[in-house]
Amino acid sequence: MIKLHSNKNIITSSSDAPLILKITKKYDLPKILRSKRALLVDSVTDINAYDGFDMVISRNKLDSKVHNVAYLSDDLNYLDEGDIVRVTPNSSDIRVLYRVNASANFLFVTERCNSFCIMCSQPPRDVNDGHLVEELIEAVSLIDIGERELGITGGEPTLLGDRFFALLQAIKSNLPTTSIHVLTNGRTFADPLLAKQISEIDHYDLMLGIPLYSDVSHIHDFVVQADGAFDETIRGILNLKRHSQKVEIRVVLHKQTYDRLPQLAEFIGRNLQFVDHVALMGLEITGFTRANLEELWIDPLEYMDKLSEAVEILARFKIHTSIYNLQRCLLPRHLWGIAVKSISDWKNKYYEECDNCAEKHNCGGFFASSDIKRSDNIAAIK
Ligand code: SF4
Repeated sequence: MIKLHSNKNIITSSSDAPLILKITKKYDLPKILRSKRALLVDSVTDINAYDGFDMVISRNKLDSKVHNVAYLSDDLNYLDEGDIVRVTPNSSDIRVLYRVNASANFLFVTERCNSFCIMCSQPPRDVNDGHLVEELIEAVSLIDIGERELGITGGEPTLLGDRFFALLQAIKSNLPTTSIHVLTNGRTFADPLLAKQISEIDHYDLMLGIPLYSDVSHIHDFVVQADGAFDETIRGILNLKRHSQKVEIRVVLHKQTYDRLPQLAEFIGRNLQFVDHVALMGLEITGFTRANLEELWIDPLEYMDKLSEAVEILARFKIHTSIYNLQRCLLPRHLWGIAVKSISDWKNKYYEECDNCAEKHNCGGFFASSDIKRSDNIAAIK
């Protein structure tokens, strides 16, 4: 597991304000290009070479006489050319906002949310965190052109209102070939004006990933702990499609959702056949899921029949469907073709059973949080 954050760094800085910096190892970078760059070095030696860089990040011993140096904790030793970090000197804090070599980069824009899902992996907090999106807009301007895709997540990103759209616009302007995948509960798009506003960004490849947990409104509302959420989500999806936006439906599979999976698939097929993708997703044991584990956990093997039936129904409606976060040895072979290695590299792991598995290279493995709970039926495939 890769850590994206550490407050065990030692930082000497003339300013306490957080800095958004792009890592470079190029000593000879022209001075005019050194602003907003942190020079990554093995150890601090030639002070003259650092002139013009906003900071020096050293993997090794800190020379305390030199200002604007961050002595990197071991957790972040993997940082490399092109990565983007937020350095907060007064709390010794470095947070990785973007990694060039990541399997997926998600921009975390807010902790606030208008739902309170029982299995939320990022429990919402009602905090004033508007600075996050401003920092990310700055970070986007530093990412190299060519990035394949950026995700946007929270909290509920659309609660940022105009600043959410400003972030989308910044990505479009700075990274015109980069796809965008927004994770949203879709409820705010019940307002047709908001759906229109996102269509006016006119992005060539922007997908809205929206959870739908049941064909029955009160079950969905229970899962997201918000009355009326089902109606708002459905109206949101319809409004987005009315404006030709790409929509992915995301279904997290657990004790409260597995039983009506076939009915949900039928509902999607009959009423929302025009969606672009359906992702059927295994549970991540983090955030609220840990607190509600009793109410949520079911061994995936127990819902395989329902999952197979749902996939068959979605296929009948010709809806592009994928399975995320589920281990190959739990899936019947006819579902292997739609099982995706979906777990971000920084929180992905495998267990001992996997060492001799013939399918390990095709299997997405586990969330690191599966140490707490995972299927009893994991077994190497011969
Ligand atoms: S044994 Fe491990 S690698 Fe093999 S399919 Fe199961 S989880 Fe995946």
